[in-house]
Amino acid sequence: SAEISLKDINGQASSSFPLCMRHLFDKLRETHHLKHGGRMQLGLFLKGVGLRLEDALLFWKSEFSQKVLQIVGAERFDKEYAYSIRHNYGKEGKRTDYTPYSCQKVISSTPSTGDHHGCPYRHFSEENLRAALTKMGVCGRSVDGILDKVRNKHYQIACTLTFEAIHDAPYDSGINHPNQYFDASRKILQ
Ligand code: SF4
Repeated sequence: SAEISLKDINGQASSSFPLCMRHLFDKLRETHHLKHGGRMQLGLFLKGVGLRLEDALLFWKSEFSQKVLQIVGAERFDKEYAYSIRHNYGKEGKRTDYTPYSCQKVISSTPSTGDHHGCPYRHFSEENLRAALTKMGVCGRSVDGILDKVRNKHYQIACTLTFEAIHDAPYDSGINHPNQYFDASRKILQ
């Protein structure tokens, strides 16, 4: 399968991550921390886009390092965080190879205050969603159409409309998995 290198992640996050993953990525960059639900959702997605285990360990450690490593300490990072990253890659515990979450799973999750996982189309306020879509480069008219789908609880259709607006291309099969969104985007942009 395809591989993504650490140096490509920044560019591909802004061009090809669906909003659910882009939000987690931005929050991680901004706060240098994510709670467990967010680490799982983003971590498994990154595994799905082809980030190798060694790079995943480097990625999380460097993102966390600025603030959190000082608080939790490098030793605890290695014990807890690195363990759960290796666990996601099937290298610890039952050695199950965990699969990235589908849209259905992300949409039905229940983030609480301070969590950044979940599906923004389902879990953001309308105001925050509008701001996030505008930041992604979706024009006002398209934003209105997307919000209309959200009001009718058609979250994946809203995400598909976002994809189409950003890539200026039709996407008839519809989004049902964040990694599918990424793959389809790379296909168009490469
Ligand atoms: Fe992510 Fe799926 Fe929601 Fe799109 S519809 S933001 S890919 S969970």
